[in-house]
Amino acid sequence: MQHLAAALAIGLGVWLFAPTAEAPEARAEVAPPAPVFVTPPAPVLAVPPTTRLLRLAAGDTLDAVLLGAGLGARDAQAVIAALAPVFPPRALKPGQELALDFVGLDLGELRLATGVDRDVVITRAADGSFAARSRLRKLTHVPELAAGVVRTSLFEAANGAGVPMPVLNEMIREFSYDVDFQRDLQPEDSFEVLYDRLYDERGKAVGVGDIAYATMTLSGKTLTLYRYVPTGARTAEYFTASGESVKKALLRTPVDGARLSSGFGLRLHPILGYTKLHRGVDFAAPPGSPIMAAGDGIVESAGRAGTYGNLVVLRHAGAYETAYAHMSRIARGVRPGVPVRQGQVIGYVGATGRATGPHLHYEVRFRGTAMNPMSVKSEAGHLLAGADIARFHAAAEATDRELLALRQATVVASMPPARMPQ
Ligand SMILES: [Zn+2]
Repeated sequence: MQHLAAALAIGLGVWLFAPTAEAPEARAEVAPPAPVFVTPPAPVLAVPPTTRLLRLAAGDTLDAVLLGAGLGARDAQAVIAALAPVFPPRALKPGQELALDFVGLDLGELRLATGVDRDVVITRAADGSFAARSRLRKLTHVPELAAGVVRTSLFEAANGAGVPMPVLNEMIREFSYDVDFQRDLQPEDSFEVLYDRLYDERGKAVGVGDIAYATMTLSGKTLTLYRYVPTGARTAEYFTASGESVKKALLRTPVDGARLSSGFGLRLHPILGYTKLHRGVDFAAPPGSPIMAAGDGIVESAGRAGTYGNLVVLRHAGAYETAYAHMSRIARGVRPGVPVRQGQVIGYVGATGRATGPHLHYEVRFRGTAMNPMSVKSEAGHLLAGADIARFHAAAEATDRELLALRQATVVASMPPARMPQ
């Protein structure tokens, strides 16, 4: 009863909207050549489909919402049964919109967005049954260029320049092979980043695309990267202007948003009270923060290990091992012998074992000997070669031309006022 009331409340909030771009097609399909009648036919009431847009509220069930929208119990069940294999109804969230096309009193079609660029369409067949299919939505990519100068933090500067969070996170991830964000960033350092903003057919910004280009100038030294899909590769990677992959052997900071709280070497042990060699570095981070594999590798061990608490040890190429201690929890599936990829979440920050508070104790071992993770010389990334390097340079030059045009447009647009933070 409660659900029905909620659904009715939604029903009252329903509004009609103009047919979308796909409507003309649909109309063309249902309009056969006009028959020629010798005698006037019996009058047929032509009912154009009406579209109702519903928005799910917290606590709504799809069943109750469909019943509230006027569907019969059998149709509501058939719609849910058709949807389930394509998109689990359980994954629907408050705020989710449903568009329902009614022909007369019957539901003809139901559409819902299941991703930034994906819809599920459920259509009634002639026999009254329903079938669901997933459909890619056409999104418009609009390149956006943002730039800023660090005053207090990179976060503040990026935020002030209107850089969306997913773009900032990706930027930090790609630069973190070369930049130690705990130490290297200084006031007056600057950045510039080019990415796409994605708009749906109604002109609504629905997300962001990949970074096409990013540059950071740190204490006068400039690092630049371009996105490129190498021949035969399935995914894009980032390369320097000379075509060297930025992806290196090991990440320097395998936990996001962390603060280096204790360095490598001799120190007065906070619990034991005497000087002891600290074999790793400590990153203070909120409990539960995801810990990432510093490099591609194989899980050597994962489990309880005395004063280390919950510990994961990874084996990497080139006789390197990395160890991650005091985890509150080891990520599901992280077991000895399992391969992991760089950046994959392998556990979560905690304070298990001998720890004064939640932090990641991170060790790097080379041929079994602990070394300072901050001074590990990460081996150079691979260089593009042959036809790939020519293709890469052509792509980078095209990006440079786009950048030039966007910079000019930005200069014009920002005199005055300056670019507004979103
Ligand atoms: Zn430690």
